[in-house]
Amino acid sequence: MEIKDALSGIDDDSLVKDLLKRLKDELQGYPSSLRFMEVCGTHTMSVFRHGLRSLLPDKIDLLAGPGCPVCVTSAGQVDAILDLACLNGVRVATFGDLYRVPGSQGSLALASASGGKVDIVYSPVDALQLAKNNPSEFVVFLGVGFETTIPGVAATVREAAGSKIDNFAVFSAHKTMPPALDALFTDDASRIDGLLCPGHVSAIIGACAYKPLADKYEFPCVVAGFEPADILQGLIMLVRQKKRGIASVENAYSRVVSWQGNKSALEMIDSVFQVCDTAWRGLGVIPASGLAVRPEFASYNAQKRLNVEEKMVSEPPGCLCGSILKGESVPAACPLFGRTCTPVNPVGPCMVSSEGSCAAYHRYGGVDRKS
Ligand code: SF4
Repeated sequence: MEIKDALSGIDDDSLVKDLLKRLKDELQGYPSSLRFMEVCGTHTMSVFRHGLRSLLPDKIDLLAGPGCPVCVTSAGQVDAILDLACLNGVRVATFGDLYRVPGSQGSLALASASGGKVDIVYSPVDALQLAKNNPSEFVVFLGVGFETTIPGVAATVREAAGSKIDNFAVFSAHKTMPPALDALFTDDASRIDGLLCPGHVSAIIGACAYKPLADKYEFPCVVAGFEPADILQGLIMLVRQKKRGIASVENAYSRVVSWQGNKSALEMIDSVFQVCDTAWRGLGVIPASGLAVRPEFASYNAQKRLNVEEKMVSEPPGCLCGSILKGESVPAACPLFGRTCTPVNPVGPCMVSSEGSCAAYHRYGGVDRKS
């Protein structure tokens, strides 16, 4: 494909072309291929939406990582959520992405069709309003997401406590990114050559959060934004470090991300949540990678207040979401992809979420010349 055709629709063609040329120039003389993990699901979607994979030099291979919050919500957590939705007098409020994610017993869509009360909301504040509007019901907001969305949930819990709203709680399946990346590479760090770190999460935790990873595993980490030019700039910086034998953290998204992160947002999280172990789909239980509601706000902890238990359940038979989230496999390698598993009838979460790798492959034609 001609670059000028492939780039139609990209805002600043000349900048992108220039960055592609610089990337190729930077790769000159590098003796081997380079595998970089784009940690964030939004990166994955952007790469596909703009056709970047087909434009990248052959020596660059991009692997998707565990950065789609809905995809990494374990089947056991989804089952616990379904149990909640079936409780008398309980109304579950969720972001739309989670609505069709399957657990072992079905999905919230199915629970809703079977009489469960499930509302799709756009923010935790909407869920709190739902509780205020329906005092005879107990509203549970499903807290699924990384550091990007957690400050808003924490602020909502504080508002509920301040207003003495008693019929509202949060089911916290929140996850934090650095421990998961650490767990991912503990067994084998050699399969990647560097990390394209997530822009959204990094706006909260700061670029400094990746320094321990860069030091421990000796690979470069570059925080990048989501426009094609951002991603290409991030790749150029990763290649440059590899060529020079450097393993440090750089920030290619300084218009949004600082080195230290957002102190106020981090304090807000810390005031309401405390670190806990949590289960990740495909990765198992990772110590200190989740956030539970602090005892001071115990009445807003849905798991405790409604006595909800998370069970260990197996993934759908044949689904490769676990290995896709670890960067070990690609959607096209899944025997169910596009056959029994489609966006209309998803088998695994990676086909449901707007940030899921399988959804990206399916939506953009399953084209992956490197798979
Ligand atoms: Fe799982 Fe479907 Fe993706 Fe296969 S195609 S890995 S079944 S979500």
